[in-house]
Amino acid sequence: MRILLVEDELKVARFIRQGLEAEGYEVDVAADGQSGEQKATGEQFDLLILDVLLPKKNGFDILHSLRHDGIKVPVLMLTARSATEDIVKGLDTGADDYLTKPFAFDELLARVRSLLRRGSDAKRVLKVADLELDTLSRRATRKGRRIDLTTREYTLLEFLLRKLGRLVTRDQLAKEVWGLDFDPGTNIVDVYINHLRKKIDQGSETKLIHTERGKGYFISDKNSPATRR
Ligand code: CA
Repeated sequence: MRILLVEDELKVARFIRQGLEAEGYEVDVAADGQSGEQKATGEQFDLLILDVLLPKKNGFDILHSLRHDGIKVPVLMLTARSATEDIVKGLDTGADDYLTKPFAFDELLARVRSLLRRGSDAKRVLKVADLELDTLSRRATRKGRRIDLTTREYTLLEFLLRKLGRLVTRDQLAKEVWGLDFDPGTNIVDVYINHLRKKIDQGSETKLIHTERGKGYFISDKNSPATRR
């Protein structure tokens, strides 16, 4: 588990880092807002611990940019004051939890564990509307009803769900699901989409697998693909 800590007070940063490392987490530290945001955007972390008062760019502004860019990493804010307005602002901006300084390390650790647990559950089970795909047990259900999938159908569904709402092209699917780097010249993708659609959408009022004619497919509870990312 990788954690990014954005904190300019060296003593506090060292204290948090040592404690988390002793618990087996990998910790990266950024000492100002700008480098913190760069790291958070350019690398993969499981959790961000974000101080509010930082040189160059404050914690709220960083959080705001990250959420605006669609980066969903769980964020724990560290607020220096117990000012309720700070807390409210943080949560409104998209923080998942906050902690007021000074705090006991055990309390920080409890929050960290809880956020990481939430994060990994969210990644493990992919959802759209009443469709759920558990990527660990590889079980798909719709409205709690089990759907049997072949290995290929499963891979196809997982790929679509990981791109939730976004349009994926036939070529992309041929490459990601079938490992084909060339246009297979057949309608294999369409055939499988149809199999999958029968299993997923048949008998349900809300259709989830959509076709954009001449472009590709997307999975969503809306009728048009998301435009961002
Ligand atoms: Ca600070």
